Amino acid sequence: MKYYDRLIFELSKSGRRAYTLPASADPASRFAIPAGLLRAEAPALPEVSEVDVVRHYTNLSQMNFGVDTGFYPLGSCTMKYNPKINEEIAAMPAFQGIHPLQDESTVQGVLEVYYQMDKALSAITGMKHFTLNPCAGAHGELTGLMVMRSYHASRGDFARTKVIVPDSAHGTNPASAAVCGLSIVEVKSNASGLVDVEDLKPLLGPDIAGIMMTNPNTLGLFEKDIREIASLVHDCGGLLYYDGANMNPLLGVVRPGDMGFDIMHLNLHKTFSTPHGGGGPGSGPVGVADRLAEFLPTPKVVEENGRYRIVGDAPLSAGQVSGYMGNFGVILRAYAYILMLGKQHLALAGKLATLGANYIKESLKDAYKLPIPSVCKHEFVFDGLIDDGSATGKPGATTLDVAKRLLDFGFHAPTIYFPLLFHQALMIEPTETESKETLDAFIDVMHEIAREAAEDPDILHGAPHNAPISRPDETMAARRPVLKYQDELS
Ligand SMILES: *Cc1c(COP(=O)(O)O)cnc(C)c1O
Repeated sequence: MKYYDRLIFELSKSGRRAYTLPASADPASRFAIPAGLLRAEAPALPEVSEVDVVRHYTNLSQMNFGVDTGFYPLGSCTMKYNPKINEEIAAMPAFQGIHPLQDESTVQGVLEVYYQMDKALSAITGMKHFTLNPCAGAHGELTGLMVMRSYHASRGDFARTKVIVPDSAHGTNPASAAVCGLSIVEVKSNASGLVDVEDLKPLLGPDIAGIMMTNPNTLGLFEKDIREIASLVHDCGGLLYYDGANMNPLLGVVRPGDMGFDIMHLNLHKTFSTPHGGGGPGSGPVGVADRLAEFLPTPKVVEENGRYRIVGDAPLSAGQVSGYMGNFGVILRAYAYILMLGKQHLALAGKLATLGANYIKESLKDAYKLPIPSVCKHEFVFDGLIDDGSATGKPGATTLDVAKRLLDFGFHAPTIYFPLLFHQALMIEPTETESKETLDAFIDVMHEIAREAAEDPDILHGAPHNAPISRPDETMAARRPVLKYQDELS
């Protein structure tokens, strides 16, 4: 163990100080804390020098992996590099210092951003109106489904209590439907990884509120029967919901509105330039077709004679879904990003995301099983190693082993064991922001790992060999994390 891998409490030396406050002339008079509220003993804080504190936090920060430290090909997540200029814009005091209850006349610029974002996202997606209020993708799904429910209710149609969700869907889709009080009907994928239209037909009927889909789907494949699916669902009186969390490959190429979708959400914190991960602030705007606009949540921003106003209520609105109007800082970053790229370069981003994914897929299919060989969009799925090394007599290397070994080479692992359609799923999404050199380096390492697996799978079983921790019990680490120092006495 390196000296500075020690906990800061273990570095503590009684009486050592980093910084000492000047002695107060009369402490009692300046900090008149009632005696009953004072502690009897000093708290058990570490006593260290300033340089120890700095090293402690700097070393801690290096134990994490982020898109700023390395390639992060996490499928169905779009962990891309986002321009730092957008961070600077979001941090400008004029934006950061505002209050949601400020008078409208003092925040006209902010309201204009909301108004213009509605327009920009509508143009990008082919929807008619957006609400920017939901604070995450899943929150957008729930909001969109509330709009769906309000629409059916407004027509006196209360029998539509079921939502169809493909078996390849992101887990939040069925979860949001359940939270919205709808029950879930699963539609199967066919051998090409697309929604099986023949399996869908018998599910459609007067009890179907709608279908939730993503296109390209979670296998990274374009649902080419989408027009037929749209008319089948519409004919039965249902609506089409589009999960646009990872819109990257479609930007400037195809629009969900043109494919026949009625409601959709975007993840600004994936596709539109807000770093995400770790549950940080997000934004999941929801867009709808014209006939659904009156059901969108409030408050919303409207324009009248060049002035912007916040409208608080609307008779058919699904209601209020967040404290005020969502996470403005995230919306602002997305707005800056869209203006900076413009139509032409947003379309280039979409194409590069697709090119990068196909490049990796084709370069690695000699070493990893490729269950669905067709051209993919922004992501694709391998089903484990072709040669897992079990011929050596040792247990074969699994997808988990490959993922752990990648950490030794400085790459974050792809998404693993999702989607559930394959036993050894490795889901790779390089995003549009990585250079060919980075993709090549990743491909080389994946080949190297495949060679190691074939020759001696134990190298992979023991990985990672040089990470701060190796293989925690993932369930316990998530459910019962130990996040604070526990000294021997407590
Ligand atoms: C990330 C993601 C979501 C959920 O978004 P959150 O902001 O994490 O709630 C939904 N669908 C897909 C396809 C996603 O990738």
